[in-house]
Amino acid sequence: MEDMEHQEPTLARFLRALEDCIYVMDWDGEHFRYRYVNRAASALSQIGPEHMGMTFFDVYKHEPEMARYLHHKYKRVVEGRESIRFADGTLLPTGALSGESILSPIFGPEGDTGSIEAVVCVTRDMVSSAERGQRLHHYAYHDELTQLFNRRFLYEFIAKPFSLFLIDLDNFKNINDALGHEIGDTLLTEVAQRFRHTFGPPHIIARQGADEFIIVCDQPITRASDKARLILEVLDKPFLLGDRMIRVSASIGFSSSSERTELSALLRQADIALYYAKSKGRSRYHEYNESIRYDQVVKFDYEIALNQCIERDELLLHYQPIFDASRNKVVEVEALLRWNLEHTRLVSPADFIPVAEETGLIVPIGEWVIRQACKDFPKIRERFGPDIRIAINISRAQFEEENFVDRLNEIIAQEGLTPAQFDLEVTETLVMRNLEEICVILEKLRAQGYMVSLDDFGTGYSSLGILAQIPIDKFKLDRSFIVQMNPAVISALLAMARAMNLDVVAEGVEDGEQLIQLMNMGCPGIQGYLICRPMSVNDLPGIWFPDMLSHPV
Ligand code: C2E
Ligand code: MG
Ligand code: MG
Repeated sequence: MEDMEHQEPTLARFLRALEDCIYVMDWDGEHFRYRYVNRAASALSQIGPEHMGMTFFDVYKHEPEMARYLHHKYKRVVEGRESIRFADGTLLPTGALSGESILSPIFGPEGDTGSIEAVVCVTRDMVSSAERGQRLHHYAYHDELTQLFNRRFLYEFIAKPFSLFLIDLDNFKNINDALGHEIGDTLLTEVAQRFRHTFGPPHIIARQGADEFIIVCDQPITRASDKARLILEVLDKPFLLGDRMIRVSASIGFSSSSERTELSALLRQADIALYYAKSKGRSRYHEYNESIRYDQVVKFDYEIALNQCIERDELLLHYQPIFDASRNKVVEVEALLRWNLEHTRLVSPADFIPVAEETGLIVPIGEWVIRQACKDFPKIRERFGPDIRIAINISRAQFEEENFVDRLNEIIAQEGLTPAQFDLEVTETLVMRNLEEICVILEKLRAQGYMVSLDDFGTGYSSLGILAQIPIDKFKLDRSFIVQMNPAVISALLAMARAMNLDVVAEGVEDGEQLIQLMNMGCPGIQGYLICRPMSVNDLPGIWFPDMLSHPV
């Protein structure tokens, strides 16, 4: 400061009198050093004569993020060799920033083809200091890489926008992996630049996380889908990164409303819509609407949470005994999976198994079930005797794994059990989907000593002719037969089972009346709440058999 006053006292006086903040930073090829700060800037930033010659990192020793942020911003000017202009200053309650900054390069004597000696920053604040509420640091609300706003900014200052577009670059990870992070970063910066260029106010552009951008609109829009299309178009032109041309596409989920809506609600809806867009393939957009049914929303949440259920130790097995009336004893217990979501809420398998199947997560989950059942086996045998078997439900995706049989054998061998101690339950629908191949696998399993049961029998519409081809040991009459309790139908099925030399278990037997009828028709296997509800291995009752079987109600 002194220096300048000395050389050009009049000019320095002029600069000092300005309301705009002026900072001049010398550039030594590595660092920026304070060269001159006018009075307004000094009042605002508390930078005085004692700081001249210091770098951002010296001055903001205790705020390294701020230092990095400033350094990065000035560096962009050196690299780009041209001025940059951006919103700056104090955050107003409207979410806008109170001012604007322009950073310009100052070239050496050889002019704008030569080296850059300094960068000058002029900040104009439209708000008088009296009006300024709490001063907020610009950097805390910006994304360092792209200079877009960050998510925190949106949450704090754009509490209720009208619409929100969530944009996710397709395959960004591949670009990063294949071409390196530097190219990845450049791409993100360029994408940000294109967005900034196309979407001025009332749009607010932010980056959340790696390759996810958010554009919120602070005014009602009538045709949000046009805007989504425009976003895709903006990205359509290839990017020139270094010497490479790269094409990127994005998927967009958006949610729009005619009234101001909580940002968190819009974000969540856009997230669901994005998930939809992605599931339909790349380069698509999808608008959230009420027709995305509740269960699909739940499914979406589950999919995310299920990913971690094993690591978080949220899975557990309940067991339900299967009673054989002809032998008066419990011959099997069926392992039924439970998901203790966040250790607070038990989710029914009917709700999460379809999701796990769709995403393929059922394979590791299924392996967990097999292993856990093996670990629980000693306690089960202790209660029900040495001949007890564990029934395990196997899903389609598991069957479709090429090495399913090997994996199964491997796990039970590791845990010290043998195939004869297992009954594998497959559903009729699973078998019917791919009859021939599945029959080959079932045959192989039986040859190795596993018992195989057809679960939920009667729900899959297979003809009796086909049923006869399936290599099984037993079928489990679906609970719907037991509820209807049509003696003619059940008797016919039992007769068929006898003719085919198959065991039968009636599922879902809930009351004594059903039990008596089934016993009278000669159905040996009984499973249901009447006998015992599914429960943890430690809760399973130790004494069998129940009194009610000798004195049916
Ligand atoms: P499932 O294999 O047919 O299992 C029998 C279902 O009937 C169980 O439901 C059981 O709790 C229920 N149940 C038993 N007795 C009664 C009764 O008296 N009344 C009524 N209303 N219900 C009864 P859960 O545990 O909800 O399991 C539902 C389905 O989820 C199972 O049907 C099975 O298909 C699937 N599942 C469960 N565990 C696993 C697993 O580890 N792997 C796979 N792939 N599927 C599983
Ligand atoms: Mg079952
Ligand atoms: Mg069943």
